[in-house]
Amino acid sequence: MKKAHILQYDLFTDKLLNGATTLEEIIQADKRDRENLMQKRYSNNQKLTVLSFGGGQDSTALLYLYVNDKAFRSTYAPNDFVVIMSDTGNEHEYTYEHIEYIKTYCEKHNIEFYFITKDMGFHGRTWQSLKEQYRATSTCGSNRFRKNCTVNLKINVIYRFLEDYIYTRYKLRTIGEKAAYWEFVEAFGKITVLIGIAQKEEKRISDNKDLPAWMISTIEKQYPLVDLKMDRKACQQYILSVGEKVPMPSNCKICPYMNLVELLWLYRNYPGDFDEWVEFEANKIIKFKDSPVNLGVFGEKLLPEALKEAEALYGHMTMEQLNEYKMSHGHCVQSQY
Ligand code: SF4
Repeated sequence: MKKAHILQYDLFTDKLLNGATTLEEIIQADKRDRENLMQKRYSNNQKLTVLSFGGGQDSTALLYLYVNDKAFRSTYAPNDFVVIMSDTGNEHEYTYEHIEYIKTYCEKHNIEFYFITKDMGFHGRTWQSLKEQYRATSTCGSNRFRKNCTVNLKINVIYRFLEDYIYTRYKLRTIGEKAAYWEFVEAFGKITVLIGIAQKEEKRISDNKDLPAWMISTIEKQYPLVDLKMDRKACQQYILSVGEKVPMPSNCKICPYMNLVELLWLYRNYPGDFDEWVEFEANKIIKFKDSPVNLGVFGEKLLPEALKEAEALYGHMTMEQLNEYKMSHGHCVQSQY
């Protein structure tokens, strides 16, 4: 039991992981970590903590920390806790399988988990799913333009759902136009939202510049993996240390922010999705044929050409090597939360 506890905290700092060699060093470093955590706890007295779940390794590590680590729980989610994920409609099969597993896991640990699918009524009218949006608007997504898929398919959906959730759960009087959030904050203080951004991905942390006033006033975003110095690898190690399987990273199958290796992986694993994406891109190019700038998913180079380049550069990689690469890459990396 004691050994498991030390192993867990081994993952919290590089120093512990790499530098501590004696039990005494481990205990001292462990104590410092706990003190840091405790300090944080005293500034936090949140009524409700929401884990924004993405279905990948980072937010899965946060869920397992919540379940397995008392200090984590008392720091980040001392009272009510709920896990929420929005369906983009374009998740990988393995992510949907992992979500099923997490549903059961949460049930077992008495945790409320909500996977918001489009039939529940919280997705926007034109953003029912990624492909539906591309099809309806003759667009294809592009890594050259400001992204709005994360906002429309994840962030907006989660916060629409959350308003409904707090209204019902806390028997509030008002709902709509974020009124429930204002009422909640008056009664209980800000809602804490835990976001699974790992160490070394800090650029994804929102600078709050473009956030609406209601969100700044009613939501407190926290990034525990950054606090705990847990990078992607540490998350994977932590998941294994609590006896769980490491899920594949999650992102949409046809995410315009993927790189050429991932494009090749997509083509070899899901040629039908690749072909559909090529079609979306071709439609987009036709629709904007008279525009001075008319770019595809990766810019001027269109998908078939990008695939050729991927084949030339990485075609020698075996499926096993591609899978291994995919295991440690990819999620809404360019999106800020
Ligand atoms: S994974 Fe990619 S396509 Fe999907 S919402 Fe995130 S940035 Fe957009």
